Amino acid sequence: MLNKVLLSTDVTLVCVQHALSTEKEEIMGLLIGEVHDNGTLVSIVSSVILRRLDKKPDRVEISEEQLVQATLRAEELAAEVGRPLRVVGWYHSHPHITVWPSHIQITCFQSVTDGSTQSRREIEMEVVNNNDSLMMNNFEILTQLPAILKEEEDEAYNNEVGQGETDDIIIKQHNAAVRTIAIGHIVEKMSRPMLEALVARNALNVVRLRALKKQHQELMARLENMSCNV
Ligand SMILES: [Zn+2]
Repeated sequence: MLNKVLLSTDVTLVCVQHALSTEKEEIMGLLIGEVHDNGTLVSIVSSVILRRLDKKPDRVEISEEQLVQATLRAEELAAEVGRPLRVVGWYHSHPHITVWPSHIQITCFQSVTDGSTQSRREIEMEVVNNNDSLMMNNFEILTQLPAILKEEEDEAYNNEVGQGETDDIIIKQHNAAVRTIAIGHIVEKMSRPMLEALVARNALNVVRLRALKKQHQELMARLENMSCNV
């Protein structure tokens, strides 16, 4: 039985960033990791952000196609890094409601488990900093978030447009304006702050690199001047 979960800091950042991308709708993603010690320990090292089919304040739905894609992504990643990675769980947000399972979640759980009652168990979780080969992958996931949110808006817009062949020009313009505002919101709230943070981080890294190079030169000079007393 599972009794401990190790969660990477990179995955924590992706989950928090994803959850804070909207305060009005639930978000959801899958967690990729490794199972150790006969299933008693799970380490979560990466994630997959899922495009939502339905988004509401208290529920979130994703397509089966997205689930299959996420599983394939886990397999690809496992092959890339040579580790037995797989989908080990999922995360979702509860905007402006408590952390306890929502009534919809309980009903949904009962429907997939033939009505059996749900038992909730708390498991120890430790956030760990791992600088491994998945760092680049997790960074890419984080930077993909605005693009996924835009895909959702495009999908919602195309569904509306597809249904209303007889819509007049005012309806069409309104729908296009709603989509433009939504994309503007993504750029303003996600893309721009992320870009600004990355530019600032890059500037800091340049300064650090310069200091490290100077230190390296000084140490090399000391090494050359060192007399060998053998
Ligand atoms: Zn929930």
